[in-house]
Amino acid sequence: MKEINDVTNIKRLLRRRKKLIVAFLAAAGSFLLGVTLPMNLRANQPAPPRQPQVLAVSSPEPKLISNVSGIAGAIAHRVEVSQQALAQQQETRFQSSLPSQFKGTMLRQAKLDEQHKAIALTFDDGPWPTTTRQILEILKKNNIKATFFWVGRYLQTYPELGKQVASAGHAIGNHTWNHQYIKYNEDGAAREIDRTSSLIEEVTGVKTSMFRPPGGILNNGLAAYAQKKNYAVIMWSADSLDWRTATQSLMDNVMRQANSGGIVLMHDGGGNRSRTVQALPDIIAKLRKEGYKFVTVPELLRMQEQVLNKQETAQK
Ligand SMILES: [Zn+2]
Repeated sequence: MKEINDVTNIKRLLRRRKKLIVAFLAAAGSFLLGVTLPMNLRANQPAPPRQPQVLAVSSPEPKLISNVSGIAGAIAHRVEVSQQALAQQQETRFQSSLPSQFKGTMLRQAKLDEQHKAIALTFDDGPWPTTTRQILEILKKNNIKATFFWVGRYLQTYPELGKQVASAGHAIGNHTWNHQYIKYNEDGAAREIDRTSSLIEEVTGVKTSMFRPPGGILNNGLAAYAQKKNYAVIMWSADSLDWRTATQSLMDNVMRQANSGGIVLMHDGGGNRSRTVQALPDIIAKLRKEGYKFVTVPELLRMQEQVLNKQETAQK
């Protein structure tokens, strides 16, 4: 039943994607005709006298299109570029989407055996200048996708950094607007969580269903509200304690607690995270040497779902 549901879901997704692309192609085509035809007409007119240039500008003159095949080529090119942008946007959204069985639950790690050795690196309290970018570079160099839990007010301050993280293919979760350890009534919790999710969607297009409570506090009203709103509350199984410990011991903390299906807690923001940046390449190298594959939290949960489905099918 579950598999049938999944197949139906995938089919529905593909159909929606096709519809989107067709609608988009139609819109892009008519728009480009509107833009390129007048440009073509202008191309046949004598050029106006050039103004003497004060500053040397390095960008080239826009290429004018002088024939129909040129226009067709330009449209095809622009359509291709638009398609790529659309695919990228869908990829970004997919990265943060969870299998529905986990929504509204709380979990510290995924259930995976040693055959499916995978682990999820997570980074909290960003986006943060310098360290978020440094961590992005390290992840890129190692071809790793991670999961970032953002503080809304920092995302408001550094939206470009946020865009960079999402478009690099990392998964995004909600870590409240203010990152406080106080008690919340439902209205207060709603303000912290809803506002942050709205901004995440506004900045990245991602509608996240992952929530991580600040300080891992589960009984102050935030986690309860998040679960009620169908978020998965994502805790962790390996705490680096990177906010209070030296580079070497934060590395030891991760290695000692690492296991298949594990979720590793680190920080890219909220303070000086230079130790995390320093330790990260070694942590990655050591985990890799032990045979771990690095995935996002949603990927980790998709792996669990697939493995369990296979086991169920095998038992029938
Ligand atoms: Zn935090």
